[in-house]
Amino acid sequence: MATIELETPSNGKYQQPTGLFINNEFIEGVDKKSFEVINPATEKVICSVAEATEKDVDVAVAAARAAFNGEWSKVTPEARGKLLVKLSELMEANLDQLAAIESLDNGKAISMAKGDVAAAVGCLRYYGGWSDKIEGKTIDTNTDTFTYTRQEAIGVCGQIIPWNFPILMWSWKIGPAIATGNTVVLKTAEQTPLSALFAAKLIKEAGFPPGVINIISGFGKTAGAALSSHMDVDKVAFTGSTIVGRMILKAAADSNLKKVTLELGGKSPNIVFDDADIDNAISWVNFGIFFNHGQCCCAGSRIYVQEGIYDKFIARFKERAEANKVGDPFHPETFQGPQVSQLQFDRIMGYIDEGKKAGATVTTGGGRHGDVGYFIQPTIFSDVTEDMKIVQEEIFGPVCTISKFKTEEEAIAKSNGSNYGLASAVHTTNLNTALRVANSIRAGTVWVNSYNMIHHQAPFGGYKESGMGRELGEAALANYTQTKTVSIRLGDALF
Ligand code: ADP
Repeated sequence: MATIELETPSNGKYQQPTGLFINNEFIEGVDKKSFEVINPATEKVICSVAEATEKDVDVAVAAARAAFNGEWSKVTPEARGKLLVKLSELMEANLDQLAAIESLDNGKAISMAKGDVAAAVGCLRYYGGWSDKIEGKTIDTNTDTFTYTRQEAIGVCGQIIPWNFPILMWSWKIGPAIATGNTVVLKTAEQTPLSALFAAKLIKEAGFPPGVINIISGFGKTAGAALSSHMDVDKVAFTGSTIVGRMILKAAADSNLKKVTLELGGKSPNIVFDDADIDNAISWVNFGIFFNHGQCCCAGSRIYVQEGIYDKFIARFKERAEANKVGDPFHPETFQGPQVSQLQFDRIMGYIDEGKKAGATVTTGGGRHGDVGYFIQPTIFSDVTEDMKIVQEEIFGPVCTISKFKTEEEAIAKSNGSNYGLASAVHTTNLNTALRVANSIRAGTVWVNSYNMIHHQAPFGGYKESGMGRELGEAALANYTQTKTVSIRLGDALF
């Protein structure tokens, strides 16, 4: 079952690997289990892929351990960098193919999928550049001691990624882990295993030694739980829901106290002041919530608009949201495709009902789009109060709330009135307002007069219940290294 022929509307026929990628080979699982992958735009089965059980996690971890202790430990930092750059080049050469697989499997618009693959390429290339720049320090403790530090790899890293940006999250995880000399067992989300398996083929082609990067498909409760509680996994990196993040932290605590980094949910505020350039603000607010069908951990889902422009803003934003093209992910003009699964569709529709029952006004949307596929209309709720579930809980769909504020202090207080703290934005033409608000928001990222401008050179991660640790930029290297102090006694004094 290693490879099957599939077809995408944009790129025609291709060979899709379906096995577990362990030791540079696509193999069946120990128990030969498999599961179906669904196209969210048609609700039809695309194919089946091998399912990793706990036993397969053991096999993959053993492969990663052998590579870490063996061949990989002798690969120079420069050579590691070259491998990452080579992988990024192979992905770039296959950009259209990878994007087509992403749209087929996840349902995201093809133009956006191409952007995701390009960003993944940039991320891997960037971390390739870091490989030979991992440096320790010398520390002047006293005259008869020479003390220095080394930044050493942590070891075998379990990485668990979500379905909203399958190939991009793959690169965010693999890039810094490999740059710093670790080995990896990465589990993709059960909803979207295909692009990662195609890219796994390129790992072998790039020349990585067997066992350095292992990619497994499987479910959270089995393979994911096995990875996070494994006694021979040294670190687990997770992106997904806050509820599962807590389970991973517990599993690490109850097993071998493996290091943990978490990138979790959000309910990010997007603040628009009276003096904002309204066309610019509407465009970014729209992109902030409806990009990727609202399935972004940093989605700008709580919109706060100052009273002077509130009515005008709502009328214009409604128009803008209704102009977003929802439909076939492979249509070049589509902006919003289907939600990823029936489960997500049902969850989001549940929140929409909840908002209606709580008395919020449906400014636009509020229902299903079409009758095949998991499409939902871009939905704006107004007349909300801060205690409503739709204002407090992450919906992870194309649904936002708008409320009015009078003063800067009120906007800041409302923005910070959440257990989450992943991202935020402020729209204003006053530099002082922008900087004051940026300093006051309790979130890992603040965008000014834009939204979702994530770049692989800049750190990304959460305050409060949005996570632990930072991905991207130099900051991510800290997630994958540990500091060793070496202290050398000079001279011959005795204790
Ligand atoms: P969502 O609810 O949006 O699907 P999840 O946080 O459940 O998000 O999923 C993100 C990733 O976490 C997926 O790869 C999923 O398989 C995995 N996962 C889910 N439950 C667990 C668990 N108990 N332990 C480890 N990983 C899990």
